[in-house]
Amino acid sequence: MKKFQPTGSASLHLVPKPQHPSIVIDPLSLRQPSDSIAQDESDIKIVWQLNQIFNQVSALGLAAMQIGIRKRAFIAQLLENKRYIFINPSISFDNDTMTISTEGCLSLPGIIRSIERYRQVTIEAETIYDAASLSEVESPLHLEDLDAFVVQHEMDHLNGRLIIDHKEMFTEKQEKKRKKREQIKRARHQRKIAKKNKSQNQISAKRLKTLKKEAQKAKKRIQKSAEIQERFKMEMENC
Ligand SMILES: [Zn+2]
Repeated sequence: MKKFQPTGSASLHLVPKPQHPSIVIDPLSLRQPSDSIAQDESDIKIVWQLNQIFNQVSALGLAAMQIGIRKRAFIAQLLENKRYIFINPSISFDNDTMTISTEGCLSLPGIIRSIERYRQVTIEAETIYDAASLSEVESPLHLEDLDAFVVQHEMDHLNGRLIIDHKEMFTEKQEKKRKKREQIKRARHQRKIAKKNKSQNQISAKRLKTLKKEAQKAKKRIQKSAEIQERFKMEMENC
């Protein structure tokens, strides 16, 4: 999960950082679910690589599959900035309370999505490492709010789900802004239609005027021709 830095009272902005070359950004690969790490399989390489790359990016979490390892493991910065690595984790939701979390993702540069997340979760894993000492930490961990959002984001990665696969939600403030933007857009569209109609009406009025003139000319021509015929008839009678 991409790290955000609050720049206003409630506004969150993406921290622009150059993309790390090891980060997978291909949605097809990212949507593949990860495999469990087998009991007899060593996790040292994954732990080392997650730790290494996480130190070089601006993020709160990084799943193994985001660095090209399709295994169920991720690293996350939680509980007052401590870093943990989870091997074969599973998550459960402590209750149904949900809220809106605004998130970015290292694998989706430039995209910010407001989505619904559970506020309280319990995460357990076959192994949870303290990333600094690589000592094992007791499982499970109970997490709330931002910490809970981070692990839900990373668990999504392990299941091949991205923030763009979630329904976009809006906070009250975002909803207000969105409605205002829509109103402006609608008003602009209506003005455009009114302008088009006006110019079409103007064209019709002009055309009507021309038709009237043409009709008057035709009437005069008919009258003149009738007069000529009458005169010709009278001259013939006088002959
Ligand atoms: Zn992500």
